[in-house]
Amino acid sequence: MKKYLTKMHRNEASTIFNARTRMTKVKSNYKNMFKNNSSCRACGKTEESHDHVLSGCQIIPNDNSNKVASNEFFEDDPDELKTVAFKIHPAPKESIHFVSQ
Ligand SMILES: [Zn+2]
Repeated sequence: MKKYLTKMHRNEASTIFNARTRMTKVKSNYKNMFKNNSSCRACGKTEESHDHVLSGCQIIPNDNSNKVASNEFFEDDPDELKTVAFKIHPAPKESIHFVSQ
């Protein structure tokens, strides 16, 4: 088992796992559900893709400290990964990019 999985909370590990496998809950990963409306829910300017949501969108997160580079979630240090997981999921009310199930 990967070291990070044993040192993180289940939801943090799952966030990192989803990011690494590009299964984040963005519209482009749920094409059938958003066939007619795949534009970003924050800026509306471009497709709501994994990369757009994590680092490309100019609206959300609007604080640069919350932007996540695609290499950040491949860190091996569990403490670093916790920070990254928090940046991806800052708080439930702010995660409007993520499709609730
Ligand atoms: Zn956007």
